[in-house]
Amino acid sequence: MTAATQGLHHVTAIAGDPQQNIDFYIRGLGLRLVKKTVNFDDPGTYHLYYGDESGRPGSLLTFFPWKGIRSGHVGTGQSTTTALSVPQGSLGWWQEHFKGLGVDSTVSGTSSEEERLSLRDPDGLQLDLVASSLTDPRDPWDSASVPAEYAVRGQHSSVLTVQRPEETLETLTRHLGLRVLHEKGGRYRLSTHDGEPGTVVDVVADPRGERGLVAGGTVHHIAFRVPDQRTQELWRQELAELGYAVTAILDRQYFTSIYFREPGGTLLEIATDTPGFDIDEPLLELGRSLKLPPWLEPSRDAISAAVARIDVPGENNPGEAPAARSSIIEERA
Ligand code: ZN
Repeated sequence: MTAATQGLHHVTAIAGDPQQNIDFYIRGLGLRLVKKTVNFDDPGTYHLYYGDESGRPGSLLTFFPWKGIRSGHVGTGQSTTTALSVPQGSLGWWQEHFKGLGVDSTVSGTSSEEERLSLRDPDGLQLDLVASSLTDPRDPWDSASVPAEYAVRGQHSSVLTVQRPEETLETLTRHLGLRVLHEKGGRYRLSTHDGEPGTVVDVVADPRGERGLVAGGTVHHIAFRVPDQRTQELWRQELAELGYAVTAILDRQYFTSIYFREPGGTLLEIATDTPGFDIDEPLLELGRSLKLPPWLEPSRDAISAAVARIDVPGENNPGEAPAARSSIIEERA
């Protein structure tokens, strides 16, 4: 193949109420809303992007929120867990933080390699915070809700649950360039590199597992990184030659994308690092206003009327003094 991809780019999941989603990911997880736009394939609904300060590839979680959507169910042929990287020694702080928000979290699967805290978002999406023994040098978003010393560094990994792991492993290793680092009890750890946070996919074999249903509270697809569109085009040609039903290159405004399904059923995407989220608004103002791609701009009035009104908490913007932070300072004084 062309080369291995450079790691994970983003995860896209399906949510219900957009305001509930914003409150949880900004206040609960301390991420930054880096883009408020609409689903380009269904412009009457939002597409919300969360990440670090500038929404760097590998820090991104994105959601299609449809108010009132039925709940999906987790099962095979899906990405079943989305893991985010946090610093070593921070899980105790996170557990207290979630307790304060009324969110249940449990320590799970601790090993010499990593510690995990498992929780669900308001729609039931399975999230793990992972403190890896491998250092994560990425700078976090300095949010008012989560101090930088504990903050999420970006994606750690995604778990793909499949009935027959052999075919999925072949796609990921022979065709996408990941390598298997180890296997234990039907759980395979793969990485585009050496297992660093943001480069990892865990494939879990569940031979008799029921097929999942992608709807509210489940992952729609996961995306891998390529540097630019030229490399992406090479990937597209090679995947098509290998027999995958791969889409044309689609313009997602902040990156371009191709999509295809791995044999186990999960929808995969290959997305470019460029041009990024400051293409249509300044870095300091990311997420503040509804952004539309040029081809939807003529329909702005109709789109604005169709989408629900949502409030973005003040802590999304650098330099503003959010209520939570000033009250903590006052209490200490
Ligand atoms: Zn995507």
